Amino acid sequence: MSETATVAVVPGDGIGHEVVPAALEVLDAVADIEFVHAEAGDAVAEQRGTPLPEGTLEAVSEADATLFGATGETSADVILPLRDAVDSFVNVRPARTYPGVDAVQPETDLVILRENTEGVYAGVENRLTEDVSTLTRLVTQSASRRLAEFACDYVESNGHDGFTVAHKNNVMRVTDGLFVDTVREEAAARGVDVDEAYMDAMATHLAMDPAGYDVIVCPNLAGDVLSDLAAGLVGGLGLLPSANIGSERGIFEPVHGCAPDIAGEGIANPSATILSAAMLLEFLGADGAARDVRAAVEATLADGPRTPDLGGTATTDAVAEAVVDRLPEH
Ligand code: ATP
Ligand code: MG
Repeated sequence: MSETATVAVVPGDGIGHEVVPAALEVLDAVADIEFVHAEAGDAVAEQRGTPLPEGTLEAVSEADATLFGATGETSADVILPLRDAVDSFVNVRPARTYPGVDAVQPETDLVILRENTEGVYAGVENRLTEDVSTLTRLVTQSASRRLAEFACDYVESNGHDGFTVAHKNNVMRVTDGLFVDTVREEAAARGVDVDEAYMDAMATHLAMDPAGYDVIVCPNLAGDVLSDLAAGLVGGLGLLPSANIGSERGIFEPVHGCAPDIAGEGIANPSATILSAAMLLEFLGADGAARDVRAAVEATLADGPRTPDLGGTATTDAVAEAVVDRLPEH
């Protein structure tokens, strides 16, 4: 990070107001960042009539990166336009286990690269008659190629052997046919190895033997479902960070939602958001700081304190403090 980066901060609703401040403490300890605070979500919609005020859209569009918490019912009206605003074409979702955290599948260490703009989430739905509704599935060669280029770069710069593309081109012959052909072609041009798996079969393999996967590339909906499955394998939603990457900007957010059932209690696990902040640091070029933050989170998961979702009794703030205490001087 050569000059002071600007980071928009959007806590959203519910535990967003607990886990985002926790992550800010960590960011403050390792980097020189100018924060621009902005609001979005259910509470704002009630007060101001819109879940995504113009000022928030502007702040996110102009910042180098955004740290986002979670929103409730208005989620689709907030995060989808924000992802558009930064032209985010891929959602990066790492899922791995940690010493000290019980996991259904302790050998899991994978990353899902999810197409972030189209598929069935392109939002083209119609109610034709009382009886009939339809959904158009959008797949373009350009978005598929952009995802594949990112996947090839990711594999190369992170020292992976190749990636597995998940799809269903035996049923969705035209749309997933185009998707897979494009991904295959791009990978071949780059000399990157590609495995293929039908997304339903992959769900079974993931549940039984996640160690067989490393980097997974998939369409939008498949990525959403498979990454929630991966979350279940590694010990719950409180641990999973994500990054929405655009050509120049990014939005970094935990995979979990605003958790209304525990909001206000101060016991939400901040790890997913702190790990999202580490991805943000990496995106800004602060690789050393990102490594230090990850190491401090790992040490805290191993030795405590831990929040109730991981079997502990600690508060969100206590965990954040423990992470900050384990950081080297910056
Ligand atoms: P969304 O629709 O936004 O994906 P969701 O309905 O999947 O949200 P979440 O808000 O992610 O729901 O919560 C699912 C469950 O996981 C809840 O019981 C919640 O308390 C728990 N949970 C989510 N995030 C955390 C966290 N950071 N720490 C502890 N528990 C969490
Ligand atoms: Mg969810």
